[in-house]
Amino acid sequence: LQAITKVYRMGEVEVYALQSIDLDLYEGEFVVVLGPSGSGKSTLLNILGGLDVPSSGQIVFGHRDLTSATDAELTRFRRDCIGFIFQFYNLIPSLTARENVALVTDIARRPMQPEEALFRVGLSDRINHFPAQMSGGEQQRVAIARAIAKRPEVLLCDEPTGALDFQTGKLVLEVLEQANRELGTMTIVITHNAGISRMADRAIAMRSGQILNICRNERKVAPAELEW
Ligand code: ATP
Ligand code: MG
Repeated sequence: LQAITKVYRMGEVEVYALQSIDLDLYEGEFVVVLGPSGSGKSTLLNILGGLDVPSSGQIVFGHRDLTSATDAELTRFRRDCIGFIFQFYNLIPSLTARENVALVTDIARRPMQPEEALFRVGLSDRINHFPAQMSGGEQQRVAIARAIAKRPEVLLCDEPTGALDFQTGKLVLEVLEQANRELGTMTIVITHNAGISRMADRAIAMRSGQILNICRNERKVAPAELEW
């Protein structure tokens, strides 16, 4: 990202959600984004994932310049390259865990089997459960399985543990960390839990639409070693 700015104009009011953000992200990184409410975290993630477009600045993904991409190109970029995980799991209630994952693998370029994706998140014994028959943490793990099943280059997670209790949230983050480690997927996680930043390669702190600092974690802590 180079000099990325996002301005929302609401009548007379202008909100600078992002102010001239410069950021390089690397293949296989596990990065957390921290910052107070309204600091621009979701806006940053949505722009990274092609869900939103910047007001100015440049985005280059590998050799692709996304800055001037058409809507159709952005849609293809999202479908082929990006996995999204949100606070509320967005599963389809009338479909089983397996069917929710299969929805994505049916259209992916080089999918893994839904069974493998569900195995990777520890849900081999919940394949035929419907969302209402699963706990919040299990539903979020199905959402992670759905996101990793298409082997995206990048996994973008907007407060994936925001609706979960502490222990369940920890388990979900361990699943994300494991997927990052085993599949090499660049993973960006917005979280309010600063403790989690200890298992990331880098932590990005945001304030008022700007990057306050970027902290490289020299002593990355394996999830199992974290004290909660
Ligand atoms: P939270 O932790 O509460 O989710 P955030 O860091 O994700 O906050 P953003 O959602 O990125 O914050 O919002 C950044 C700023 O941009 C806020 O001041 C918000 O009011 C504004 N904003 C976000 N989306 C819009 C929109 N669609 N229209 C107008 N203003 C917006
Ligand atoms: Mg947000």
